[in-house]
Amino acid sequence: MRTPAAASVDRLTIFDGGEAHVTDISQWSPGVNVGKSAVFSNNAYLIAHGDDYMLWDCGLDDSMIDIAGGKVMAHDVRGIVTKTLASQFDEIGISPDQVTHIDFSHAHFDHVGNSRYFPRATWYVQRLEYDAMFGPNTSQLGFLPELYNTMRQNPMKLLNGKHDVFGDGSVVIHATPGYTPGHQSLLVRLANHWPVVLSGDVAHFHKNFCCRRVPLFNFDKPKSVESINYVDKLVLDERAELWINHDMAQSATLAHAPRWID
Ligand SMILES: [Zn+2]
Repeated sequence: MRTPAAASVDRLTIFDGGEAHVTDISQWSPGVNVGKSAVFSNNAYLIAHGDDYMLWDCGLDDSMIDIAGGKVMAHDVRGIVTKTLASQFDEIGISPDQVTHIDFSHAHFDHVGNSRYFPRATWYVQRLEYDAMFGPNTSQLGFLPELYNTMRQNPMKLLNGKHDVFGDGSVVIHATPGYTPGHQSLLVRLANHWPVVLSGDVAHFHKNFCCRRVPLFNFDKPKSVESINYVDKLVLDERAELWINHDMAQSATLAHAPRWID
């Protein structure tokens, strides 16, 4: 149900967080499109709220811009960076130091690559994800701790489910576990635009969302399907737009930095 008289954020800016090139998309849609290659978009999102800035996901590691042709990181995914996150912050005249809140949909390399830029930001993380990030099974989960080790020193809020970040209903974290142990999604309310649900990797592209397809590498399949259902209901209840981070076709239709929506 919609929060009564919920506030809205000032701006939502989308950054280009690199691309992921995959040789066999059926890893994400078992049995479908076997052997077909694909390119995934990979975005980071900056939310302006009064004097605060909140970053949701932070793309592939900027240092990959120096690697011609990119690099295979995990799950046979080749990450390619053509524009650094730092340069995009510069372009809109905001310093990473101004980011006061940070949050990741989950801890895979394409979502946490530049986390080291934001040591002052308060980090909102599901306890289940935190425990997995610093637990014994990181490689099984496809996590690369060297990309996020500095986050241990950030101010931190451990979550066990839903959380209203600014206390005014404008930005609400929703637990959507399954793909990883503590995966989460974000509802953002805007003044002049439908609310937006940033669903992280609940699904990697629209067809998978609609067909309830779950990737081969996945922490908990039933929970993943439950989370797709949860996000579907959230989108309907809030009359929101669903933004799927890795859906290249959708991403190409959205205004990226230096533009924004409000
Ligand atoms: Zn991803």
